[in-house]
Amino acid sequence: MLDRFNRTIDYMRMSITDCCNLRCRYCMPNGMKVPKVPMPEVLSYEQLLEIAEAAVTCGITKFKVTGGEPLVRKDCADFVGRLKRLPGVEQVTMTTNGVLLKENIDKLKLAGLDAVNISLDTLRPEVFRDITGFDKHRDVIEGMEEALAAGIRVKINTVLQRGMNDQEWLQLAGIAKEKPVDVRFIEMMPIGYGKKFDVIYNEELQDRLEQIFPDMEEDVSIHGNGPARYVRIPGFMGSIGFISAIHGKFCSECNRIRLTVTGKLKPCLCYGETYDIREVFASYAGVDTGAYEKRQDELVSLIRKSVLEKPEAHCFEKLAEITETREMIEIGG
Ligand code: SAM
Ligand code: SF4
Repeated sequence: MLDRFNRTIDYMRMSITDCCNLRCRYCMPNGMKVPKVPMPEVLSYEQLLEIAEAAVTCGITKFKVTGGEPLVRKDCADFVGRLKRLPGVEQVTMTTNGVLLKENIDKLKLAGLDAVNISLDTLRPEVFRDITGFDKHRDVIEGMEEALAAGIRVKINTVLQRGMNDQEWLQLAGIAKEKPVDVRFIEMMPIGYGKKFDVIYNEELQDRLEQIFPDMEEDVSIHGNGPARYVRIPGFMGSIGFISAIHGKFCSECNRIRLTVTGKLKPCLCYGETYDIREVFASYAGVDTGAYEKRQDELVSLIRKSVLEKPEAHCFEKLAEITETREMIEIGG
């Protein structure tokens, strides 16, 4: 459906858990206090599927399964399959840290997963440990290889941190030379622990890339559901993408709403405003006749409302105006 600013909103990001098997220092650092959401507050797969059905009625046809780490939730691959099979659903993709990808790849392939975004900030195992708290670098690389071997489209998401992995950006971009993988640099956003970090601006990287590869060209072919800008470098198998949340304001191309792990519909990443979808389920608990239809009506109207409440633009460049206080792990990126 169209929002108030004439943008087509056809994509929903669903956070299915706030649990994670890594502790990335800008997202959920070791020792941080995010009270774990009690299980009864986490939407069940059945509820998520009902929400997806209502979303389809609103014109949303593409879904991203995210977390926390989606693959730590039991039966995640099975959920992906059920979501993919819903009438009207055109695309189901996932954002994962990749640690559990290898062991889930067959099930995900069978489920019909269309593409996977793997978060990988470094090619050096010791730096991976410093960033994430765990020695799991090899698992992520193997997960990427397995996804490619299974014929699932792969993108790498990289967040650069000064003094940690910022000197490695060119090597990371080099993955796209060797493999049919798009590598995307995401600017650190001032959400949760991300506020404590410097932003490394994509503009700078793009300029440096252009100096190294003067024949690189903007790639206008569609690469997924997002506001990333892509460039193609001759001889590279994949493209290089830039998600420049801070200065390269991409809000005019925003196509999404988000569902947090506790069932809050979020019109915009930057603002705390949400619509509580769990209330819909609470209202009809114990109602037998026609409960599903009534819930669908209310879910549809809440989703429409949240699309119509999307602001024109985020305010990441004005820190004082950001009203989102949740951690990224609850929102799902
Ligand atoms: N665990 C999964 C993963 O790491 O891909 C999915 C959830 S994670 C919150 C989704 C994405 O958000 C990851 O690519 C992560 O690097 C990114 N992220 C987390 N905090 C961020 C921040 N403050 N700014 C920009 N990206 C962030
Ligand atoms: Fe976990 Fe993803 Fe956050 Fe890292 S970025 S702590 S993998 S949810």
